[in-house]
Amino acid sequence: RLCSLNECRILMLELEKRAVVYLPGVGPKKAEILERELGIVSYWDLLNYYPYKYMERSRIYRVADLTDNLPYIQLRGRITRFGTVGVGSGRRLVGKFTDGTGVIDLVWFKGLNFVTSKYKVDTEYLVFGKPVAFNHQYNIPHPDLDSVDQAKQLAGGLMPFYNTTEKMKRAFLNSRAIQNLQYALLSGINWTLPETLPADVLAKTGLVSLSEAMRHIHFPDNTRTLEAARRRLKFEELFYIQLNMLRTATNRKRKLRGIPFPRVGDYFNTFYNEHLPFELTNAQKRVVREMRADMGSGRQMNRLLQGDVGSGKTLVGLLVMLLALDNGCQACLMAPTEILATQHYATISEFLKGMEVKVALLTGSTRKRERDKILPAIANGEIQIVIGTHALIEETVQFASLGLAIIDEQHRFGVEQRSRLWMKNAVPPHVLVMTATPIPRTLAMTLYGDLDVSVIDELPPGRKPVKTLHRYDTRKAELYEFLRQEIRKGRQVYVVYPLIEGNEKLDYKDLEAGFETFKSVFPEYQVCMVHGRMKAADKEAEMRKFISGEAQILMATTVIEVGVNVPNASVMVIESAERFGLSQLHQLRGRVGRGAEQSYCILISSYKLSSDTRKRLEIMVSSNNGFEIAEADLRLRGHGDLEGTRQSGEGLDLKIANLAADGQILQYARDLAQSILDEDPELLSETHRILNERLGFLFKRKVNWGLIS
Ligand code: ADP
Ligand code: MG
Repeated sequence: RLCSLNECRILMLELEKRAVVYLPGVGPKKAEILERELGIVSYWDLLNYYPYKYMERSRIYRVADLTDNLPYIQLRGRITRFGTVGVGSGRRLVGKFTDGTGVIDLVWFKGLNFVTSKYKVDTEYLVFGKPVAFNHQYNIPHPDLDSVDQAKQLAGGLMPFYNTTEKMKRAFLNSRAIQNLQYALLSGINWTLPETLPADVLAKTGLVSLSEAMRHIHFPDNTRTLEAARRRLKFEELFYIQLNMLRTATNRKRKLRGIPFPRVGDYFNTFYNEHLPFELTNAQKRVVREMRADMGSGRQMNRLLQGDVGSGKTLVGLLVMLLALDNGCQACLMAPTEILATQHYATISEFLKGMEVKVALLTGSTRKRERDKILPAIANGEIQIVIGTHALIEETVQFASLGLAIIDEQHRFGVEQRSRLWMKNAVPPHVLVMTATPIPRTLAMTLYGDLDVSVIDELPPGRKPVKTLHRYDTRKAELYEFLRQEIRKGRQVYVVYPLIEGNEKLDYKDLEAGFETFKSVFPEYQVCMVHGRMKAADKEAEMRKFISGEAQILMATTVIEVGVNVPNASVMVIESAERFGLSQLHQLRGRVGRGAEQSYCILISSYKLSSDTRKRLEIMVSSNNGFEIAEADLRLRGHGDLEGTRQSGEGLDLKIANLAADGQILQYARDLAQSILDEDPELLSETHRILNERLGFLFKRKVNWGLIS
């Protein structure tokens, strides 16, 4: 039955508001655990908690046929008697169970009273569980029992499995309990849900209704109905993300005027003609043209610049900042870490040597006295280019006229944070986001779907590809010998250790032990060390030793990942490489290969590696292409684990879609969302009202900064 729009809205509101504590079988304690462990508060939250796998229900085993190492199985038969055995913590309830072909024990260590009151002897049950062998006899610990009646309703279907935590299991909220809750919920509403996609979208896509999808995602009849359900839910999930992004972008384009940058003037031309130390690559020229077109148009630019490590994004950033200056505006460049901000400041000051441009550095550790000088100079427009960290978006930083904000990031800025920048000026500044590492297309569409995209797909000429080798840590002597040869040729070496959150203590120990070893293996050379726990000044001093060439070996945690540019360094050694993600490894490798010499990246790992890790290291050895590596990373790890997606502000918490596998659905959803917005940008037509409502619900916590100007 289709409900009218109003009815649908009321039904939906009810599902979204009603707390799971009102479901039969959920008391306050279970409700609290569901919320704490899974974030499930409402009926709707519960419905959106999907199984992670399914089992064929039709197969029923015979007791006589049980063997070792069986997975979860079903038996059909009756309990002949209950009894308790053992004492203390070993006390357990045993139900003798037979199906006519043999007898096994069903065993419970907890909830004994509950079990004996709920299950009756001499009644037929379907028993579900994992048999274990003990004393040449099989038993099933903590099995789940369905009455045959109950089982009949679900007969022939697939049995869902839900992820649960230890804490949940202890409160009797195992997979089966979740299944029962889903059943109670869905049967309580007659298996009928209001529709959350407009009729024309359903018609166009041929997707099943929400009622059908929810029924079959939790209780599929067969793999075909399951697939149809998954398809509908994946589409819906991706569709609303895209619709939200594209609506933001569309409204921005329609409503916001950007600061027009019609002029190419002295700053740009003087730099381009007299200070540029090398010819731009064709790709660099092309992306600068793309941005000039944006910023010249009177629209606000919102662009993502993708390019592999070392492709020269900083220079492109500088060129467009000079365009802002030529049009009477200021520009800022924001980096994710202090080290990177400092490096950018040094690079850009160096590029601009001999030109009259006021550049300032502003980070969290800028001294108060310094700040007190810088802030007014930013506010009165004297300082033209500001480079810094997050400190730049603080309210105390006021610009005279900010025309362009560049974010050089490691996917750490979400729409919201970007939007804070727009408010730094009466007319929002142009925004350019530069990603430190390429990200796969599907991820870019999802995280940055509101941005236009430029790609630098070419490295500056004369770069020799870095040679990447994988070596086991049992062969350190060879490594030292190789490093010694390279240093003798005048090169420098990075040695990087992992730094994993929550494991810092051990990691620092590894680094410090490594530092001692290297000092004793290379007494004739200078070894220096940097890590995040050092005072800024000490860090600086150590870095400087390496940059100046005084030290030959720099040992560090990942702090050097983004940032340092030492063309003479030609070897990157990565310790415990198995503990790094692919993108991170690629990013680190990008620190070498910046000079004319042959460079090397040596991945050190232990001998014991999981097959996924082995694959990761193999990909690194065989590919130098950041885009390829990013795709592989997504396939291997899934988007949930990808660096940055967790901290990205809006969080990419997809419940069912998978960016590695569902690229086609994503593209389709995006195209459809765009065509709807082309026709009805405000989503005001009667059929599209549901879209507005869903967006309001799904993204309610996110202020639509895009509309603030
Ligand atoms: P990214 O930020 O894209 O990783 P960078 O901007 O740090 O790369 O550039 C890497 C190096 O290449 C820098 O030393 C930079 O000066 C140099 N570079 C940039 N563009 C060119 C070019 N067109 N020709 C030669 N070298 C370049
Ligand atoms: Mg860079």
